[in-house]
Amino acid sequence: MVECRRCPRLVAWRESAATQSRARAEEYWSRPVPGFGPADARIAVIGLAPALHGSNRTGRMFTGDRSGDFLFEALHAVGLASQPHAVSRDDGMRLYDTRMAAPVRCAPPENKPTPEERDNCRPWLAQELQLLRPTLRAAVVLGAFGWQALLPVLSAACWRVPKPRPVFGHGVELRLEATDGGAPLTLLGCFHVSPHNTFTGRLTQQMVRDVFERAKAVADD
Ligand code: SF4
Repeated sequence: MVECRRCPRLVAWRESAATQSRARAEEYWSRPVPGFGPADARIAVIGLAPALHGSNRTGRMFTGDRSGDFLFEALHAVGLASQPHAVSRDDGMRLYDTRMAAPVRCAPPENKPTPEERDNCRPWLAQELQLLRPTLRAAVVLGAFGWQALLPVLSAACWRVPKPRPVFGHGVELRLEATDGGAPLTLLGCFHVSPHNTFTGRLTQQMVRDVFERAKAVADD
């Protein structure tokens, strides 16, 4: 996956990061960012796409930017992360029973992938879910983009998605039965942890922690 070059616009953008005016004086990852966390996790966190100077720089999901700072603080508070701060790929961070993945694996301009780029990247998300299928019980979806990208993949991966497809919202909870006799999966909607939401108070630490506490309860059920 880290060698993928299927989206020319995103390849050019991710590789330009280290030369942009905001760039940090360090080596950039500048490739697709893989999932992070144990492969037998019961909880998934589905984001949007890497930030250009965040995980596109560090090479690990939600690591090295303000969105990640907010998210890891909440994960640590509820016992799903070993540390409250994530700064680099080798900072010793461990996730417990939780794996992060993004529907689009390369940083997009203005954090806005096109529908074509989302579709190009869908097979990588499908593989991630295939990996998690035996253990996955809950998925916390950060924002409407992730929600819309995830539902068709779940449908193809043995979970029954209602029609019309349920709409994203913070606090929305959706239980999907398995079509193959396996365990059901519960989706939990959560506003994205971007500064746009956290700086304005639209999303607070407590709100994120509550969602992850609910995910833990679902996984234990
Ligand atoms: Fe490949 Fe996904 Fe990156 Fe597009 S966004 S180049 S499909 S890894």
